[in-house]
Amino acid sequence: MEKSIYQLPLQVLARHLFYSRSQYWNAEKLRSWQNERLKLLISYADKHVPYYRNLFREINFEADKFRGIEDMVKIPLLDKETVRTRKEEFLSDEAHSKNIIWDSTSGSTGTPLHFALNNSVQANKIAALLRSFFWAGYRLRQRTLMVQSYYFKDVDFQSDKFYNVIRFDSNRLSRDSALRLAEVIIKKPVKTVIGFPFDILMIGRYAAEAGRKIPSPQRIITYGEKLSAERRKMLSEYYGCPVFDFHSMHECSAMISQCQEGRLHLIEDFAYMEIVDDEGQWVEGKGMLAGTSYYNYMMPLIRYNTRDAVQPSEAACSCGRAFRRVDEIFGKECDAIQTPDGRILGAVMSHSVDQAKGVIMSQCVQRAIDHLLVRIIVDESYDDKSQEALESGLRKRTGSAMKLDFEKVTQLEKTAGGKTPFIISKITNH
Ligand SMILES: [Zn+2]
Repeated sequence: MEKSIYQLPLQVLARHLFYSRSQYWNAEKLRSWQNERLKLLISYADKHVPYYRNLFREINFEADKFRGIEDMVKIPLLDKETVRTRKEEFLSDEAHSKNIIWDSTSGSTGTPLHFALNNSVQANKIAALLRSFFWAGYRLRQRTLMVQSYYFKDVDFQSDKFYNVIRFDSNRLSRDSALRLAEVIIKKPVKTVIGFPFDILMIGRYAAEAGRKIPSPQRIITYGEKLSAERRKMLSEYYGCPVFDFHSMHECSAMISQCQEGRLHLIEDFAYMEIVDDEGQWVEGKGMLAGTSYYNYMMPLIRYNTRDAVQPSEAACSCGRAFRRVDEIFGKECDAIQTPDGRILGAVMSHSVDQAKGVIMSQCVQRAIDHLLVRIIVDESYDDKSQEALESGLRKRTGSAMKLDFEKVTQLEKTAGGKTPFIISKITNH
């Protein structure tokens, strides 16, 4: 691991140089590069990854004859459930000898997933993410407010003079902390705000309610949860600046971000993305986004079904990039939990169940200001340790005054629209 600490910045720099150029490739160059990357990946998966070796044999898929994009539909879609239950089979047989990092995610879904990656995937992710932020006009060391989970012990936010960043911990969002932060950025305004949309919105709202005007930054860049048209409009109104949406998955299978023209692009030099139906066939209109990381050879996920629906757009973009466009991402917008000590927890709750082995799905229902009912669907690997991990993950965020009740169920509560939200608030008044 020691060595990797020094390697990562160099790898990010190298990838940054690559991404600076690849964003201007024409469609033809992009396609031929994608075909080459996919061929390498499929051939590697066939040789080194047990899951794919077996799958390809079962479906009579000949990896050595794979031609690239046009043959992708021959490979079945991959579900999160398959990765969750057969994780070990997805690991490359070279994974143990190389430097792998375990990461976990549950997005906003409450279904934990563990997966492996290496430095190269990390470097690609950081460089591609930075490029997206640059599209929005962000520059390194520009005075910036970051709003996300930091788990600060004693403070709500802190300034980092070297990076010129104020970091606000979403876990500590309350009226008081928002107003204290507002005073700091009224005194010395920020140029960019980056973070969870709901939390940024609440900071703006608390300040406005208290009659304090936060000077307009030049841009807001949001990520971590779906940005609805309504929230985007409110953010824009509270802060008086444009809002750029950035959408990525921990699994590194998909990335979508807005260019300077305000349009959403699939980041096609970061992951290969397809818009498909339930059978994995390509569709012309609205469909599910399936993604394949070009870079994760330690744990290749091919045609991974993100379960997020998108509406594609055929029109070219005036920014000059050949990356395909989408008009809308139909993800889930988080509800939020209120804590007895006055904090509001939105997207930060999403990783609270990540460490609990055996949890297939979960749902937090807030019934009173100090009572959270946690419903879980579990498999046979769920044990006392999982329960402890689940409790401590939740406790870390909710604090000690929240009563936590757990209920094993076989079904979760759905909304009128048929969705299964991770957070359901029965006391919402924000
Ligand atoms: Zn564009």
